[in-house]
Amino acid sequence: MAEVAALELEEKAAAVRAQLAAALARHRRLVYSNSLGAEAMVLTDIIATHLPQIDMFSIDTGRLYEETHELLEKLQRRYRRTIRVVYPDAASLERLVAQQGVNGFYHSLEARLECCRIRKVEPFRRAIAGYGGWITGLRREQSAGRAAGKAVEWDAEHGLYKISPLLEWTEAEVWQYIRARRLPYNRLHDREFPSIGCAPCTRAIQPGESRRAGRWWWEQPETRECGLHPGALLQPRQPEARGSDYGLSTGIPAP
Ligand code: SF4
Repeated sequence: MAEVAALELEEKAAAVRAQLAAALARHRRLVYSNSLGAEAMVLTDIIATHLPQIDMFSIDTGRLYEETHELLEKLQRRYRRTIRVVYPDAASLERLVAQQGVNGFYHSLEARLECCRIRKVEPFRRAIAGYGGWITGLRREQSAGRAAGKAVEWDAEHGLYKISPLLEWTEAEVWQYIRARRLPYNRLHDREFPSIGCAPCTRAIQPGESRRAGRWWWEQPETRECGLHPGALLQPRQPEARGSDYGLSTGIPAP
């Protein structure tokens, strides 16, 4: 049984390699936006081992966990490859913090999205400029918003193709691939952090919670995206009559 599962996984991995090779032949310049999450370990391994012509970058928002930096270092050592790190524009960041405070993202959805825009979306736009397509590790089962994604789609927001080769992978398959090859991964995954973003906006999940429940946990599920995948955002629910602020709880949430 285990041998059959291993064989099936190798076939899926071969299909990802073939899809990326075909996309490279078609679009000529591809870039992988490396989230450093569990799915990213699979894609980093496939790209660094088989398709080194594909460029790779990761965004350092300035609020990442130390464990995430450790992982970045491990990946660069393992694959003997420098992963480009993209940072927010310093002047924009200074303005943001002056306007909303250093943790202003807790105060409203608008403030949170503005922080994500300055720290993630704008650096992302800079990093993908000039490419024919960008690669992401989205999986269909991650959230209701991501369930409708396509393996290859025109990303009208950013003006290039978006390629999601792991869309049909399950979380179990991702971990099977990581363990079979003894790949490095973020140590926070061993502490009930299935999805990891910025430190102040990510916490461990509780038994029975969804896998992305620890991301922006004080918001409603529909808005829990950073803006890199606008299609994955669902319509936010209407504010409740008791006065919750656009679906946000009041006060600073405890991690
Ligand atoms: S996840 Fe939180 S800290 Fe990170 S960019 Fe978004 S709002 Fe800012």
